[in-house]
Amino acid sequence: MSDAFLALLAALTSACSATSLDLSEAELSADIHLQELKAHVYRLASPEFLGRSGPGGARASRHLAAVFERFGLQPAFGDSFFQPIPSLLADAKDKDSFLGRNVVAVLPGCDPKLKEEWVLLCAHYDHLGKRGGQIYPGADDNATGVAMLLEVAEHFALSKDKPRRTLVFASFDLEEDGLRGSTYFATHPPLPMKKLKASLTADMLGRSMVNVMDEYVFVLGSEHSRRLRHLVEEVKPPSGLTAGRLGADLIGTRSDYGPFRDREVPFLFFSTGQHFDYHRPSDLPDRIDYEKLWRISLWICDLMHRLANDDEVPAWESKELPPDLDEIRTVRTLVRRVLDQPKLYPLSAKKRELVEGVESRLTKIVDKGEVSAEDRSWLLWTARLLLATVF
Ligand SMILES: [Zn+2]
Repeated sequence: MSDAFLALLAALTSACSATSLDLSEAELSADIHLQELKAHVYRLASPEFLGRSGPGGARASRHLAAVFERFGLQPAFGDSFFQPIPSLLADAKDKDSFLGRNVVAVLPGCDPKLKEEWVLLCAHYDHLGKRGGQIYPGADDNATGVAMLLEVAEHFALSKDKPRRTLVFASFDLEEDGLRGSTYFATHPPLPMKKLKASLTADMLGRSMVNVMDEYVFVLGSEHSRRLRHLVEEVKPPSGLTAGRLGADLIGTRSDYGPFRDREVPFLFFSTGQHFDYHRPSDLPDRIDYEKLWRISLWICDLMHRLANDDEVPAWESKELPPDLDEIRTVRTLVRRVLDQPKLYPLSAKKRELVEGVESRLTKIVDKGEVSAEDRSWLLWTARLLLATVF
């Protein structure tokens, strides 16, 4: 066979596999399917959407609105799924002048009283666009989060058991541009902010933190609400997935949970963490762990069920909760694996010494079986230092 023939064959084969992933082929179903999650990621990270910024971002927003509509969800803003984000410098009379737009859908609750309350699930769809002639596909950041959002939205829209509380599904724009989409949403919500009982945010759900945390998803935010901490403990992740709790203050404001935390809305933030393709053109869909994305989506869906239907809702607690030993264990697992697997994450001698010191103090805390306030402030300082120098 000639090389040209082989090339043609390869092109045809890949065209076929692309067709099998085509969303239009996917059947509507309340089940969360790995293949559909994969199809969403491939589609969102495809050249069609040019890295989901500018004209490609606008195209992606139309695509998401069409998917929400297909699920039978209601538009959040009158007859529109779109929430345009105006430029602060725009002429107020110029209605077409906006920086981007959020895409938001609603599933009304079925309980006559509780339907006034709402629970939000959100994930940003924008990414870095095209730079220096190269498309940044943003498969992990954040096509994975949007894929989860769409599958969970589809599940609730098609399931016979309707949620007692109203659910809002939001895909934000301009996260990469200073969290502008979520900030605008939080100041212009489609339903009263006082009735928002919990906000769940996902950003990057398909990789492994610095290549050493394969089975882990990090969950941040449970430190502000006893009820959320209990829920995260009670609702077990599917087997093969480990949920590692962390305080959001360890990483600062890194994603769309920021505007909700600032308004004291109980929140959870899910992420599998940073990796070597982060914000690079190599953040490609063939590097995603789809089994893991599927397990995380199932877990978030279970948590949403509880938040939608439980009698008790989370409350924001301004007094600090007792520090969480699980957080110490999570950080210790990360630093131990980095030390144990130098091929996966090489460290200079100086950095190794620093990380070894951190590991030994974390071990002392775990052995002691409780975290003091002093331990916690050491951890906060150490996490910031490690983020700045090692990770
Ligand atoms: Zn992101």
